[in-house]
Amino acid sequence: CGIVGYIGNQDAKEILLRGLEKLEYRGYDSAGIAIANGNGVHLYKEKGRIADLRKTVDENEAGTAGIGHTRWATHGPPSQENAHPHQSETHRFTLVHNGVIENYESLQREYLNGVHFTSDTDTEIIVQLIERFVRDGLEVEEAFRKTLSLLKGSYATALIDKENTDTIYVGKNKSPLLVGKGDDVNVIASDAMAMLQVTNEFIELMDEEIVIVTREAITIKTLTGEKIERKSYIAELDA
Ligand code: GLU
Repeated sequence: CGIVGYIGNQDAKEILLRGLEKLEYRGYDSAGIAIANGNGVHLYKEKGRIADLRKTVDENEAGTAGIGHTRWATHGPPSQENAHPHQSETHRFTLVHNGVIENYESLQREYLNGVHFTSDTDTEIIVQLIERFVRDGLEVEEAFRKTLSLLKGSYATALIDKENTDTIYVGKNKSPLLVGKGDDVNVIASDAMAMLQVTNEFIELMDEEIVIVTREAITIKTLTGEKIERKSYIAELDA
Protein backbone atom coordinates (compact mmCIF):
# COMPACT_ATOMS: atom_id res chain seq x y z
CA CYS A 1 0.00 0.00 0.00
CA GLY A 2 3.05 2.26 0.01
CA ILE A 3 6.31 2.58 -1.91
CA VAL A 4 9.64 4.19 -1.16
CA GLY A 5 12.91 4.29 -3.06
CA TYR A 6 16.31 5.87 -2.50
CA ILE A 7 19.40 6.38 -4.63
CA GLY A 8 22.18 8.48 -3.12
CA ASN A 9 25.26 8.29 -0.92
CA GLN A 10 23.86 7.33 2.46
CA ASP A 11 22.78 4.11 4.15
CA ALA A 12 19.70 3.20 2.08
CA LYS A 13 18.25 0.63 4.49
CA GLU A 14 17.77 3.10 7.32
CA ILE A 15 16.13 5.70 5.07
CA LEU A 16 13.84 3.12 3.47
CA LEU A 17 12.77 1.63 6.82
CA ARG A 18 12.09 5.09 8.23
CA GLY A 19 10.17 5.97 5.09
CA LEU A 20 8.03 2.84 5.40
CA GLU A 21 7.28 3.72 9.02
CA LYS A 22 5.93 7.06 7.81
CA LEU A 23 3.57 5.14 5.48
CA GLU A 24 2.26 2.80 8.19
CA TYR A 25 -0.86 4.97 8.62
CA ARG A 26 -2.07 3.77 5.21
CA GLY A 27 -2.49 0.23 6.56
CA TYR A 28 -0.55 -2.90 5.53
CA ASP A 29 -0.10 -6.58 6.29
CA SER A 30 3.53 -7.12 5.27
CA ALA A 31 6.58 -5.15 4.22
CA GLY A 32 9.90 -5.51 2.47
CA ILE A 33 12.99 -3.77 1.17
CA ALA A 34 15.63 -4.54 -1.45
CA ILE A 35 19.09 -3.02 -1.10
CA ALA A 36 21.51 -2.77 -4.02
CA ASN A 37 25.24 -2.61 -3.52
CA GLY A 38 28.31 -3.55 -5.53
CA ASN A 39 27.69 -7.28 -4.97
CA GLY A 40 24.08 -7.47 -6.05
CA VAL A 41 20.64 -6.98 -4.58
CA HIS A 42 19.65 -8.18 -1.10
CA LEU A 43 16.03 -8.86 -0.29
CA TYR A 44 14.33 -8.65 3.12
CA LYS A 45 10.61 -9.20 3.54
CA GLU A 46 8.28 -10.16 6.37
CA LYS A 47 4.65 -10.61 7.16
CA GLY A 48 3.63 -8.22 9.95
CA ARG A 49 5.04 -4.94 11.17
CA ILE A 50 7.94 -2.80 9.94
CA ALA A 51 9.48 -3.43 13.38
CA ASP A 52 9.55 -7.17 12.53
CA LEU A 53 11.11 -6.46 9.14
CA ARG A 54 13.73 -4.21 10.76
CA LYS A 55 14.90 -7.11 12.96
CA THR A 56 15.68 -9.25 9.90
CA VAL A 57 17.81 -6.64 8.11
CA ASP A 58 21.55 -7.25 8.39
CA GLU A 59 23.03 -4.27 10.22
CA ASN A 60 26.09 -4.43 7.96
CA GLU A 61 23.90 -4.06 4.86
CA ALA A 62 25.69 -1.08 3.30
CA GLY A 63 24.03 -0.33 -0.04
CA THR A 64 23.23 3.24 -1.06
CA ALA A 65 20.26 2.44 -3.31
CA GLY A 66 17.08 0.47 -2.78
CA ILE A 67 13.31 0.17 -2.87
CA GLY A 68 10.74 -0.62 -0.18
CA HIS A 69 7.08 -1.58 0.08
CA THR A 70 4.20 -1.98 2.47
CA ARG A 71 1.63 -4.44 1.12
CA TRP A 72 -2.12 -4.54 1.51
CA ALA A 73 -2.84 -7.92 -0.06
CA THR A 74 -5.30 -8.06 -2.93
CA HIS A 75 -4.14 -11.26 -4.68
CA GLY A 76 -2.67 -13.99 -2.50
CA PRO A 77 -2.82 -14.03 1.31
CA PRO A 78 -0.44 -12.04 3.51
CA SER A 79 2.73 -14.16 3.76
CA GLN A 80 6.46 -13.81 3.38
CA GLU A 81 6.38 -15.26 -0.17
CA ASN A 82 3.68 -12.83 -1.25
CA ALA A 83 5.32 -9.79 0.37
CA HIS A 84 7.15 -7.45 -2.00
CA PRO A 85 9.75 -6.94 -3.46
CA HIS A 86 9.29 -9.70 -6.04
CA GLN A 87 12.03 -11.01 -8.31
CA SER A 88 12.21 -12.38 -11.84
CA GLU A 89 13.08 -16.02 -12.48
CA THR A 90 16.85 -15.41 -12.68
CA HIS A 91 16.69 -12.83 -9.86
CA ARG A 92 18.13 -10.18 -12.15
CA PHE A 93 15.13 -7.86 -11.62
CA THR A 94 13.53 -6.81 -8.33
CA LEU A 95 10.23 -4.92 -8.16
CA VAL A 96 7.64 -3.41 -5.82
CA HIS A 97 4.06 -2.58 -6.81
CA ASN A 98 0.97 -0.95 -5.38
CA GLY A 99 -2.33 -1.50 -7.13
CA VAL A 100 -4.08 -4.29 -8.99
CA ILE A 101 -3.18 -5.90 -12.35
CA GLU A 102 -6.49 -7.10 -13.78
CA ASN A 103 -5.15 -9.05 -16.76
CA TYR A 104 -2.26 -10.89 -15.11
CA GLU A 105 -3.67 -14.35 -15.89
CA SER A 106 -4.04 -13.75 -19.61
CA LEU A 107 -0.58 -12.13 -19.79
CA GLN A 108 0.91 -15.13 -18.05
CA ARG A 109 -0.72 -17.49 -20.56
CA GLU A 110 0.34 -15.40 -23.52
CA TYR A 111 3.96 -14.59 -22.63
CA LEU A 112 5.22 -16.70 -19.77
CA ASN A 113 4.52 -20.31 -20.49
CA GLY A 114 6.94 -22.43 -18.49
CA VAL A 115 8.16 -19.60 -16.25
CA HIS A 116 8.17 -20.57 -12.59
CA PHE A 117 6.26 -18.13 -10.36
CA THR A 118 7.08 -18.04 -6.66
CA SER A 119 4.12 -16.01 -5.32
CA ASP A 120 0.33 -15.87 -5.66
CA THR A 121 0.35 -12.15 -6.40
CA ASP A 122 -0.83 -10.29 -9.47
CA THR A 123 2.39 -8.25 -9.12
CA GLU A 124 4.86 -10.97 -10.07
CA ILE A 125 3.69 -10.85 -13.69
CA ILE A 126 5.27 -7.39 -14.05
CA VAL A 127 8.78 -8.41 -13.10
CA GLN A 128 8.63 -11.70 -15.01
CA LEU A 129 7.46 -9.91 -18.19
CA ILE A 130 10.32 -7.41 -17.96
CA GLU A 131 12.84 -10.25 -17.78
CA ARG A 132 11.15 -12.04 -20.67
CA PHE A 133 11.36 -8.96 -22.92
CA VAL A 134 14.97 -8.29 -21.95
CA ARG A 135 15.78 -11.91 -22.76
CA ASP A 136 14.10 -11.33 -26.14
CA GLY A 137 16.55 -8.49 -26.78
CA LEU A 138 14.98 -5.28 -25.52
CA GLU A 139 16.88 -2.71 -23.47
CA VAL A 140 15.70 -2.61 -19.86
CA GLU A 141 13.93 0.72 -20.28
CA GLU A 142 12.14 -0.52 -23.40
CA ALA A 143 11.14 -3.76 -21.69
CA PHE A 144 9.80 -1.74 -18.75
CA ARG A 145 7.74 0.53 -21.02
CA LYS A 146 6.46 -2.38 -23.09
CA THR A 147 5.44 -4.30 -19.97
CA LEU A 148 3.59 -1.35 -18.45
CA SER A 149 1.74 -0.71 -21.69
CA LEU A 150 0.41 -4.30 -21.60
CA LEU A 151 -0.99 -3.96 -18.07
CA LYS A 152 -4.66 -3.31 -17.34
CA GLY A 153 -5.36 -1.90 -13.90
CA SER A 154 -3.51 0.29 -11.47
CA TYR A 155 0.12 0.51 -10.55
CA ALA A 156 2.76 2.51 -8.80
CA THR A 157 5.86 0.46 -9.32
CA ALA A 158 9.64 0.59 -8.95
CA LEU A 159 12.25 -1.70 -10.48
CA ILE A 160 15.94 -2.32 -9.88
CA ASP A 161 18.28 -4.24 -12.15
CA LYS A 162 21.10 -6.20 -10.54
CA GLU A 163 23.27 -5.47 -13.58
CA ASN A 164 22.88 -1.69 -13.30
CA THR A 165 22.24 -0.64 -9.73
CA ASP A 166 22.73 3.05 -10.55
CA THR A 167 19.16 3.34 -11.81
CA ILE A 168 15.67 2.91 -10.41
CA TYR A 169 12.89 2.59 -12.99
CA VAL A 170 9.53 3.92 -11.85
CA GLY A 171 6.05 3.72 -13.38
CA LYS A 172 2.63 5.04 -12.42
CA ASN A 173 -1.00 4.56 -13.43
CA LYS A 174 -3.95 5.36 -11.14
CA SER A 175 -1.91 4.90 -7.97
CA PRO A 176 -0.01 7.81 -6.41
CA LEU A 177 3.75 8.24 -6.80
CA LEU A 178 6.15 11.17 -6.39
CA VAL A 179 9.80 11.63 -7.20
CA GLY A 180 11.86 13.65 -4.72
CA LYS A 181 14.87 15.68 -5.76
CA GLY A 182 17.92 16.18 -3.58
CA ASP A 183 21.55 17.13 -3.92
CA ASP A 184 23.29 14.08 -5.43
CA VAL A 185 20.38 11.99 -4.20
CA ASN A 186 16.92 11.25 -5.55
CA VAL A 187 14.03 9.40 -3.97
CA ILE A 188 10.55 8.10 -4.71
CA ALA A 189 7.52 7.81 -2.43
CA SER A 190 3.77 7.28 -2.50
CA ASP A 191 3.49 10.18 -0.06
CA ALA A 192 5.94 13.07 0.34
CA MET A 193 5.85 12.54 4.09
CA ALA A 194 7.91 9.37 3.74
CA MET A 195 10.88 11.20 2.21
CA LEU A 196 10.86 14.60 3.92
CA GLN A 197 13.80 13.12 5.83
CA VAL A 198 15.78 13.53 2.57
CA THR A 199 14.19 16.41 0.63
CA ASN A 200 11.12 18.63 0.40
CA GLU A 201 11.34 19.15 -3.36
CA PHE A 202 9.06 16.81 -5.31
CA ILE A 203 7.86 16.16 -8.83
CA GLU A 204 4.40 14.77 -9.40
CA LEU A 205 3.87 11.98 -11.90
CA MET A 206 0.89 11.59 -14.20
CA ASP A 207 -0.73 8.37 -15.31
CA GLU A 208 1.13 6.25 -17.85
CA GLU A 209 4.45 7.93 -17.22
CA ILE A 210 7.75 6.32 -16.35
CA VAL A 211 10.74 7.89 -14.65
CA ILE A 212 14.36 6.90 -14.90
CA VAL A 213 15.90 7.88 -11.59
CA THR A 214 19.64 8.02 -10.96
CA ARG A 215 21.64 9.80 -8.26
CA GLU A 216 22.10 12.80 -10.55
CA ALA A 217 19.06 12.85 -12.81
CA ILE A 218 15.30 12.41 -13.05
CA THR A 219 14.04 11.68 -16.57
CA ILE A 220 10.30 11.47 -17.15
CA LYS A 221 8.96 9.75 -20.28
CA THR A 222 5.71 8.53 -21.75
CA LEU A 223 5.15 4.81 -22.23
CA THR A 224 6.17 5.34 -25.86
CA GLY A 225 9.46 6.92 -24.85
CA GLU A 226 8.94 10.67 -25.40
CA LYS A 227 10.60 12.90 -22.84
CA ILE A 228 8.44 15.09 -20.62
CA GLU A 229 9.55 18.22 -18.74
CA ARG A 230 7.89 18.95 -15.41
CA LYS A 231 8.64 21.51 -12.71
CA SER A 232 9.15 20.45 -9.12
CA TYR A 233 7.31 21.93 -6.13
CA ILE A 234 8.20 22.40 -2.47
CA ALA A 235 6.13 20.27 -0.11
CA GLU A 236 4.93 22.40 2.83
CA LEU A 237 4.73 19.66 5.43
CA ASP A 238 6.33 18.97 8.78
CA ALA A 239 8.60 15.94 8.86
N1 GLU B 1 -1.92 -6.36 -5.73
C1 GLU B 1 -0.65 -6.44 -5.09
C2 GLU B 1 -0.59 -7.58 -4.10
O1 GLU B 1 -1.59 -8.11 -3.70
C3 GLU B 1 -0.24 -5.12 -4.43
C4 GLU B 1 -1.08 -4.75 -3.24
C5 GLU B 1 -0.74 -3.36 -2.67
O2 GLU B 1 -1.09 -2.35 -3.29
O3 GLU B 1 -0.13 -3.31 -1.59
O4 GLU B 1 0.45 -7.98 -3.72
